[in-house]
Order: sequence, then C-alpha cells, then structure tokens
Amino acid sequence: MKVVFFSSKRYDEDYFRTANDVGHELVFHETKLSPRYAVLAQGARAVCVFVNDRVDRETLERLKEQGVQFVALRCAGFNNVDLAAARDLGIAVVRVPVYSPHAVAEHTIALLLTLNRRIHRSFNRVREGNFSLEGLVGFDLHGLTAGIIGTGKIGQIVAHLFQAFGCGVLCYDIAENETLKNDGARYVDLDTLFEKSDIISLHCPLLEATHHLIDEDAIAKMKSGVTIVNTSRGGLIDTTAVIRGLKSGQIGNLAIDVYEEEDSMFFEDQSARVMQDDVFARLLTFPNVLVTGHQAFFTDTALTQIARVTLDNLSDLESTGSCSNEIQIN
Ligand code: NAD
Repeated sequence: MKVVFFSSKRYDEDYFRTANDVGHELVFHETKLSPRYAVLAQGARAVCVFVNDRVDRETLERLKEQGVQFVALRCAGFNNVDLAAARDLGIAVVRVPVYSPHAVAEHTIALLLTLNRRIHRSFNRVREGNFSLEGLVGFDLHGLTAGIIGTGKIGQIVAHLFQAFGCGVLCYDIAENETLKNDGARYVDLDTLFEKSDIISLHCPLLEATHHLIDEDAIAKMKSGVTIVNTSRGGLIDTTAVIRGLKSGQIGNLAIDVYEEEDSMFFEDQSARVMQDDVFARLLTFPNVLVTGHQAFFTDTALTQIARVTLDNLSDLESTGSCSNEIQIN
C-alpha cells in the first residue's frame, strides 16, 4: 500500500523504514497536513499523521478526492481528527493506543524532579563555575500528596511511581481504576483533588469536557504553592490563568511538555526566529517553569513500537478491511 507521511522527521523515516518488513510504499513529507497540502497524498490509499496535523472535515474531503481511504495516526491522542467527518466520508482512522506509557510516565517524573531540585538551573551554574546554592531549594516528595487526573495507562504508572516515592495518591477519573484502588490510591471529586494535592499531574485526554480543566477557578481551589505537571495535552490548561497563578505564587512550580498553541512551534527549530507567541514567551521567563517540546513519548522503545503498530494497522486494513486499533464513534 502507498502511504504518504505528513509532519515527518528524519527519525520517523528511520524507524518506519526499519519496521517496514511487508514492503509498503512509504513517502515522507515534512509538510504539515492541511487542506492545502492534502494534494500530496495523490494516489495513496493511506496517510500517516502526527499530533499537530490538521485532520478536519475540509482536509478529509480533500484527502478523499485524492483517493485516500485510511488515516493512520502515529500517536495515541486523536483530538486533531474530525471523526464524524471521517465516518461520513468512509475513511477509517487508526491509531497506536499503546506504545510505551512508561515513556510518558517516566518523562513526567523527570520533569517534576528536574524542576523541584532545580537541576535545570544548577546544570548551567556549574558549567560556569558557579557553585552557589542560592535559589536551588527543593522539597522532599516523600510524604506529599499527588493528585492524578486521568488514571488510564499513563496515569496508572505515574500513580505507582509517586507511591514509590512515598507520596499519598489521590485520583480523579470518569472511570475508576481497580488496580490503583487496590494499591491504596483514593478516588475523590475534582475539587477535593485540587484542595488536597501538593502536586497535580494531568493524564486525561483533551475533550470538550476537559478543555481548560485547569482554569482560574480550579487554580483558586488549589493549595498555595502547588506544583502542576502536564504531559497530556496543552488545551487542558488555560495558560493565561496559569501565568496569573505563577505571578501571585498560588502556583509554585509548573512543568509542561505540551502547550495549547504548540502546533505553530513545536517539533521545529525556531531558534533563529523572533518568538511571536507572547504568552509562551512570558512562561519561559519564570525560573519555576520548565518546558519540554512534546518529547515525553520520545524513546527508542516507543518509536520502535509506534512504527511497528502503525504499519500493522495498515496491513490489517489492507488485508481484512478492519483493524482492532480503528477509532470507533457512535
Ligand atoms: P488512556 O486512554 O489510557 O487514559 C486516559 C484516562 O483519562 C482514562 O482513564 C479515561 O477514563 C480518563 N478520562 C477521560 N475523560 C476524562 C475526564 N473528563 N476527566 C477525567 N478523566 C478522564 O490514555 P493514556 O495512554 O494514559 O494517555 C493519556 C493522555 O496522554 C492522552 O490522552 C494523550 O493526550 C497524552 N499523551 C501525551 C504524550 C506526550 O508525548 N506528551 C504521549 C502519549 C499520550
């Protein structure tokens, strides 16, 4: 099958070519998918897209005109796809629901520890011969309360990692995770989680119901000096409200791997350009804010698995017309 890739990087090409035992015809484009660039899929049965590709109704209609029957997401989240439009057009959408939840969970803890122990600051200081400890005070995780919002595959691992540090774990989810309950985590309502947690870590999907879950009201309910970590999706956080919280001290630390306006910036080298996003620029001025550019998934284990499962998804669709990783909507 001919598969046209959008938003492709060299590492995508490397991992997909290595995993391509079946011999699909793979065509890689760095261009982000949008209605304008759907024409690049001409003659392909499938397109392969990533988190910030635009897969709305207009794009899907253009893809359909090119003969595309399948959209393969090389990621787990699918908030960028208009599933109703795909269904109307008879385009199947598949994804990689699990590749390495450990990769994201471990990055969550890496961000938290870096930020808390000010490693990002001491790294630079020591390289300049500055061994002063001023401003580097952290806190022990042991004995604190961690609030996990979204206790699916990633949230469960993060909860267990917090327990390994000796933290109490409070959870909020629309569906309770029995393993976590058996392991001593406690489900509470969202307001209680906000009120009682020293650290809040976000692991639910971005949906209408979760958009700006962390807003002015939520922040006001939190403990003073709370630490917030978001490795899920940027839209879960109202960034301007969070900036106000950081300025007042209500938020003590913020670590994010995702940002609500990331699609115009992330995954590209923008270092020679003037930053146009004033809200993001303001975030970067805080000493207690740590940002990575959507790299939580980025491990060798995860990339190998993503390539393998994506190509298997396409092989299943080609040979049987269906796939267990197809996203179903009612
Ligand atoms: P999952 O589907 O296993 O778990 C998501 C959990 O969120 C489920 O338990 C679900 O019940 C819960 N949920 C759904 N709606 C909710 C709501 N309104 N309020 C609270 N909880 C709700 O997904 P996962 O594999 O654990 O991934 C979690 C998120 O992590 C994904 O949605 C994705 O956006 C993000 N992610 C980020 C990266 C990265 O590189 N930064 C990589 C992979 C996934």
